[in-house]
Amino acid sequence: MKVVLENLTKKFPGRTRKDPGVTAVNNFNIEIPDGKLIGLLGPSGCGKSTALNLLSGLLAPTSGKIYFGDEDVTDLQPEKRGIGLVFQNYALYPHLTVIENILFPLENLKGEEKLSRDQMMKRAMEAAKLVQIEMLLNRKPKELSGGQQQRVAIARALVKMPRLLLLDEPLSNLDARLRLQTREEISRIQKETGITTIFVTHDQEEAMSISDQIIVMKDGVIQQIGAPQEVYDDPKNLFVAEFLGTPQINTFEGEVKDGKLYIGNEAVLNVRNVNDQKVYVAVRPEAFIPDPEGPLSCAFKALEVMGRDTSVVFTSKFSERKALRAIIGADVKVEPKDGVVRFRLRSPKTEIFNRETSERVYYEEA
Ligand code: ATP
Repeated sequence: MKVVLENLTKKFPGRTRKDPGVTAVNNFNIEIPDGKLIGLLGPSGCGKSTALNLLSGLLAPTSGKIYFGDEDVTDLQPEKRGIGLVFQNYALYPHLTVIENILFPLENLKGEEKLSRDQMMKRAMEAAKLVQIEMLLNRKPKELSGGQQQRVAIARALVKMPRLLLLDEPLSNLDARLRLQTREEISRIQKETGITTIFVTHDQEEAMSISDQIIVMKDGVIQQIGAPQEVYDDPKNLFVAEFLGTPQINTFEGEVKDGKLYIGNEAVLNVRNVNDQKVYVAVRPEAFIPDPEGPLSCAFKALEVMGRDTSVVFTSKFSERKALRAIIGADVKVEPKDGVVRFRLRSPKTEIFNRETSERVYYEEA
């Protein structure tokens, strides 16, 4: 089922006269395609949970519309929306066994939706199988690991065959290894069921790795929507460029003047079709090429060997960052001289942004 948000806005009023309140979701216009996994991504407080709560019906919007397929669900009660919800804390019933937890949503179905005991059991078993917990059905939640509990929570959300699955930071309580494993599981389950799924996270790597599309938000406003690689390769503003990628993109203050891109008084690239302006120069770690004759000089700090790659750590007078990072092949030599390391820059991964608006400025390399 596709989901359409039209001018969707949620304002929370201030509590006092001095508190202006906050627009947690600001004029969202999105069409979420049927059967896809969408990552809703942004820093803490940007409005991700609010957006999810509007979709689930737990919050009413201040203005705007929500459509599930062609149906306007803006005023529909949460329980009538056909949604499966999974939160960060699994919220299983502690006194019920795994199978009883999964059956629970089915036992409350009424009227036309009511199922026989056999039908309920069949559905619950299918959901348990899908998340691979068939062997744990008679345990209580406290007898399960965090990852297993989260699988039960997902099975419980799937058992009603939702039209839309909403996952709010479902991996946050898991340790690093389990996070990786469970996110792959979620991706598999989503593909097998084909249920349109929205996955909320502040972890860009998590969102990038499993989403068909990501929606990057900041302060209630959508910054960019697209396939993960597309957004990474072609960020529309400095926020998106800095939010995606680890190590983070390296940002310098710079200037375009007479067809040259400067960092300080060093001309780092020849650029065409750009007006003279003050800019931010954002360089992906893989876009630095160590070169003793290179135009960009930085203060060398350290080399960190990480197996296949090496990370060169340095600083610059023209960057506010405490540590900048270049990633180079382990066989590439770096020879700092008098504490200075020099680089050339690869233009495809060196992006520039207007310093006043932070919007992307496109250029051609001359
Ligand atoms: P996190 O990743 O930390 O959970 P988030 O991106 O999910 O953050 P929200 O919880 O949606 O962010 O909050 C967005 C903004 O709305 C925040 O500034 C928050 O303080 C505010 N907010 C959320 N709920 C309410 C509420 N019930 N009343 C007033 N303000 C709220």
